Amino acid sequence: MKELDSAFYERVCGECGLCCDGTLFADVRLREEDDPKDLLTLGFKLKRRKGFYFFKQPCQARTEQGCKVYEKRPNRCQAFECRQLLDLKDDVVTEAEVLDTIRATKEIIGQIDELLARAGDSRKNKSLMQRYEHVLSEPVDLSEGEEPFEIRGELSGLMEELDEQLNEKFRV
Ligand code: SF4
Ligand code: SF4
Repeated sequence: MKELDSAFYERVCGECGLCCDGTLFADVRLREEDDPKDLLTLGFKLKRRKGFYFFKQPCQARTEQGCKVYEKRPNRCQAFECRQLLDLKDDVVTEAEVLDTIRATKEIIGQIDELLARAGDSRKNKSLMQRYEHVLSEPVDLSEGEEPFEIRGELSGLMEELDEQLNEKFRV
């Protein structure tokens, strides 16, 4: 298994961010090695459940340029490697193929984002799943004719497609 250098993570994970923006995970649970005080100092809003600290995604430390607390990111973040990274390390895929997979996944996400906005939810601080559930929980305005139903139908098809893509290409 080959090692990936930090420039690789900048190039590839910088383009992706699916493990930070709420697409792959709803939250990040801290490990015993993490000091919650350090993360609170960095501005993380920690919650506690069954004795464990966690923070919700989309992660507030995620920026267009990548993780802004990269050197001090929680241990779970440091340890996580998605299927794409593992396959690249094993020479199952090339970097160009990984980037293609990320672009294809982002294209589905872009279509979902657009439909969610058309359905009235453009919130950027919520994950796609949170926005999708919110849209579905809202009553349909019957004065808008068939459109709300068509949007919901398209959304559910695309969410399924995204889930399949995440299962096949990213989840481990
Ligand atoms: S999902 Fe994989 S490729 Fe994307 S940012 Fe996370 S580790 Fe990097
Ligand atoms: S701390 Fe950094 S690596 Fe961890 S979820 Fe947030 S942005 Fe991603």
